[in-house]
Parts: sequence; C-alpha cells; structure tokens
Amino acid sequence: MQTGTISVQTENIFPIIKKYLYSDQEIFLRELVSNAVDATQKLKTLSRLGEAQGELGDLTIEVKLDAEAKTLTISDKGIGMTQEEVEKYITQIAFSSAKEFAEKYEGKDADNIIGHFGLGFFSAFMVANKVEINTLSHKEGAEAVRWTSDGTTEYTIEASDKAERGTDIILHIEEDANEYLREARIEELLNKYCRFLPVDIQFGTRTEYVPVEKDEATIEDAEIVEDDAEATANTDEAAAETTETEEPKEPETKAIEVPKIINSTHPIWKKKPADLTDEDYKNFYRALYPMGEEPLFWIHLNVDYPFNLTGVLFFPKIKANIEVRKDRIHLYCNQVFVTDHVEEIVPDFLMLLHGVIDSPDIPLNVSRSYLQSDPEVKKINKYITRKVGDKLDEMFRKERENFEEKWESIGVLVKYGMVTDEKFYDKAKKFCLLTNTEGKLATFDEYQEKVKALQTDKNNKVIVLYTNDKENQHSYIEAAKSEGYDVLEFDQLLDPHFIGNLEQKLTDVQFKRVDADPLHKLIEKEGENVSVLTEDQEKSLTELFKGQIGDDKVMVNVEPLSSSENPVVITKPEFMRRMKDMSNLGGQSMYGDMPEFFNVIVNANHPVVAKILESEGEKQTEAAKQLYDLALLQQGMLKGADLTNFVNRSVNLMG
Ligand code: ADP
Repeated sequence: MQTGTISVQTENIFPIIKKYLYSDQEIFLRELVSNAVDATQKLKTLSRLGEAQGELGDLTIEVKLDAEAKTLTISDKGIGMTQEEVEKYITQIAFSSAKEFAEKYEGKDADNIIGHFGLGFFSAFMVANKVEINTLSHKEGAEAVRWTSDGTTEYTIEASDKAERGTDIILHIEEDANEYLREARIEELLNKYCRFLPVDIQFGTRTEYVPVEKDEATIEDAEIVEDDAEATANTDEAAAETTETEEPKEPETKAIEVPKIINSTHPIWKKKPADLTDEDYKNFYRALYPMGEEPLFWIHLNVDYPFNLTGVLFFPKIKANIEVRKDRIHLYCNQVFVTDHVEEIVPDFLMLLHGVIDSPDIPLNVSRSYLQSDPEVKKINKYITRKVGDKLDEMFRKERENFEEKWESIGVLVKYGMVTDEKFYDKAKKFCLLTNTEGKLATFDEYQEKVKALQTDKNNKVIVLYTNDKENQHSYIEAAKSEGYDVLEFDQLLDPHFIGNLEQKLTDVQFKRVDADPLHKLIEKEGENVSVLTEDQEKSLTELFKGQIGDDKVMVNVEPLSSSENPVVITKPEFMRRMKDMSNLGGQSMYGDMPEFFNVIVNANHPVVAKILESEGEKQTEAAKQLYDLALLQQGMLKGADLTNFVNRSVNLMG
C-alpha cells in the first residue's frame, strides 16, 4: 500500500466543495453516473476500433445501496483505470479541476451557475466522508487497484482483488447526508438526471411474472400448458379447452426478480424524425408530463453545424390569460439532464413550449448572466426561433384549417413572439391571424383587403375596430356592424401590447376600440353629419344632462350621430383607456386608482332627444336621467342604488 498527498496549497478544498454546492449536493450522482457512462462508451469505441480485447459482455451500470454499511456504489464495466491512470486522472487532473472550479466560484452564488458541471468526480465528497475507487483496467495484464481518500488531501492506493473489468465508486455516506441512503431518494435522482442516458443503468430489481416452465407445472396444469409456444399462440383454443373443464384456470405464473433498468437509452430526440410515428412523440410527451394534456404538435430539432443540438419541442394547449409555467423545457447535455431553468437559452416567448433540448455546446459551468451574451447560446437561440417560425409557417401554408383550429393556443405564443422579437415578427406577420366577432380568421393582409373599402377614413388610414369584451360592448358592436363595419376580438392579456406594437409597424392602420367614440368619429369620412339643432338648443341639452350626471369631470357633448344610433352614448376615449390598460399590465398601476374616464354624447339627430327639448320641468329631467342611465347600462356601468332607482323609475314610467 502507498500513501500520498494531493499536492495543493488549498488544504481545505473539500470543505469548500461541500459548502459551496450545498444547495445542489444531489448532482454528485449525475457526475458519477456520467463518468461511468463515459467509461463504458470509451470501451465501446475502443472495441469498435479493435483496440479492446474480447467480448465486451453486459455493460449495464449498476447503482447499489447498502443502508447497513452506509454505502452507495456506482459500478461500471467500462475501461477501468490502471494505477498510473488513477494517479493521473483522479489525484492530479480531477483534483486540480475540482480545485479550480471551487476557487473560481468560491463565495459566488452557486445557484447562479448553470448546471454546476465541472466538479466531476470530487463532487462525491459533498455527501461522503470517504470515497473508494476499486478499478480494473481493460488493458491486458492490468492489475486492479483501490484508491481511498477520506476527504482530506491524504489518500492511499493499494492492490485490489477486483476480478471484473471496470470501476466501482464506493461512497461512504456521511451522517448529515443520509437521505442518500434512502432508496426512494436515489431513485428520484436517477429519474431526474439519468433517465435518458445512453447506457443501461440498473437500480435494484423489480418483480416480473412469467409463465411457469413445463417441468415446474403440476400434472393438471400440464394439460393446459402443454407447450409454452403453442399455448401462447393459441390462447383462444386454450381458453375454449378450459371452459370444458369444471373450473376455469388462469395460466400459472411465478414471480421472479429482474434487474430494474431506470433509463431509456434511445430517447426520441436522438432518433431520425423519419423513423418516428406521431404515437412515438405522444408517448414521449406523456412520459415527460404524465399529467399534461395532449400536445397540439411538435418540432424535432436536429442540427450539427455550426453547433450541435437535438431536441423535440412540443406545443401545449395554452389557455389564454393563464400564467404559464416556465420550467417545462428540459436541458440535456449528451442525454444527461442538466436543468429545467432554460431562461437564458430559450427566447422568453418560447418558454411556453414543452420538451427537451440537448446540446453539448451550451457552456454549463458559467454563470447565468454570462450565458445570455455567449455567442454560441445566441446562435442556438436564433436557431430555435427560426425553427419554430418555419414550422408555423409551413403549417399555415399546408394545413390552414388545422392551423386555424389551433390558433387559440398558437396565437398566444405568436403574439408574444411578435412583440418581443423583430425577426420573428417579420416571419409571423404572414401567418398571424386576427379573429373577428363572428369567429372568422384572417391574416393582416387579408383583413386589410377585406375592410379597407368601408373602413378607410378621410386621412387614408384603415381603421380597425375591435372589442375586448363581446358581451359588454354588444350594442356598440351591433351599431358598427349595421354600418357594414367589421369588429375584431382582442380579449387576451397581451393584446393591448400587441395592438400597440402593430400600430407602430403598420403605419397606415389605426386600431380603435368600438366604444371609444361615436361611429362617425371612429371612422371619420369626408363631409360630416350635420346637426338639426341650433347652438342654443345644444347648449341647453348639455346643461340638462350635466345636471343629471352631477360630476364635473364627465364631458358632455351634443353631436350629430346618425338617427339609427342611440340617443345617449357613453364612450371611453382610446388614448386614456390604453394608458390605463398598459399600466395595469405592468403590475402596479399609475392610473389604476383613477376612476374610469368616459364621455357622454347626446345624439342631436335622435327623435327622442328632440322630444326632450320640447318637454319641461320634472318630466324633462326625468327623461334625461333615464336616457343617461340607459347609456350607462349599456356599458355595464350602472350599479348599486343607481341601478335600483333606474328599475323603479322604469316601472313607474310604464304605469
Ligand atoms: P471529467 O469527467 O470531467 O473528466 P472527473 O473529475 O469526473 O472529470 O473525472 C476525471 C477523470 O477520471 C475522467 O476524465 C476519467 O479519466 C477518470 N474517471 C472518472 N471516473 C471514471 C470511471 N468510472 N471509469 C474510468 N475512468 C474514470
């Protein structure tokens, strides 16, 4: 036996490692299993090149718990290490890289470093107070060695009796990490980090029920299970035979323990899309998100150059106005799970997607803030955005009907993308759909073409009318429709932003909410309506209504609307309302406490208004009040005592 000292200035690197990654201790298992996978893959490569001797045999990696001995062991049948290699790769290289890592990030916010890769083998000391490596190299004539270190810079290395090729890493789990001696905890971690690793990983066994072999079966059973192959092939016959006997019998099975393999070594993102069916994608989705609804469609990502990235992104059903979880994309590095916080890698609007991206080209041992400016990550970001845009574009062109059906979900993402990403906007403006109050969908170009004849105002702007509340703005919508105008529906959280964004870009288009102004002002044409009233009459009408409203801040205007419009109309000016909407969207609101701003417009051309002018006294004021209340009612603004009074007054009027 030899002893040695890991030569370093920082004697206490282990305490640093321990403390440093305390919040993310659990990654030790990922690091060790990844090493085991690497060692196995290397052996396979050597064998392919004819540089490893003999049959490779079963290469399953095994993770074993021994709660009594308080050990957790990771065993592989990979290339193994000779004594020189242990000295070199573990005591020198691995140690110095762990040291470098710890020094680099000492005192920094550990959670801020994506993936925590780079700590490697020495991460074992986060949970173990003693680590043994028992290894036999694949090299001819190699002798097995055992390396032991108790988490100081001292270690020993001695001959071992290990007879099988490969490496066992034995962790003596320390007291305050004994959660890692619980089977359920280890299983959870293996599921999290190792679920798609490319080499079989066994953890424990599971019970499987297999048919009883012929010679094990009893005499009576032998009649039914005459021949295994035949019995399974002719199940119907066998069943028919059984009904003839008195008691129907189940075919006999016995319980056996088989190795439990926790991973699937060929996840779909590594396969060719041509080899996969829709069902394969759906099954994969179900495995990832057992509680999720079926995805709408998906995009298979696969690129080698200028960076390497594979993955599958799923479009989930997105319900409008619902806060979407942003941890639904899993980042892998060569099939090793890294994180589900991919904010810096995937553009924000695509965080609504689900699925997996796998890339060895994303730097993982850097801080998150650095990541955003990393040129490689920027390229990846662009690539994903482009792929998503292309997929949507293709769907729109080739399966418009299907695209329209899914638009409600797709739209949330597309609009989000359009307001946050110029490049995406340029692509998406061709397939972004607008929905009108009748549920008809059209692209911008189609829509503009459709409405421009009637809805172009005297300044040559196409006025797009919209509602954000079909129910409450019903009468305004009907009034617009009766003029032959079309009204769009924009009722989602993001829509105020989206509208603002569109207006900036489409300079010849203006959006106006259908209740922002009386119709003739929403779409101003040459030659205005003329009022049938004199200036004095208008003045006295204004005074009359002001008296009923009793609020100086409310503007009252007498205007020549068409006689088919209501006698009194309440409007909410576009500009003021948008300011309020926008500040509401931003969370805390500057205008939020402000009462809703509105104008009252008296229709000079309505016969009822003419009648009011002719009447006098209480009859006149009551009629004015009644018309004003009706206008409030139409905006859903008549509440409480005012509503009660209105109802009572209406009943009286009928009597
Ligand atoms: P990394 O894996 O990033 O190189 P590690 O600290 O995890 O860093 O490991 C250092 C080196 O030790 C590896 O590069 C490898 O040569 C060797 N090693 C670690 N684990 C094993 C193993 N299970 N089998 C063979 N070699 C191993």
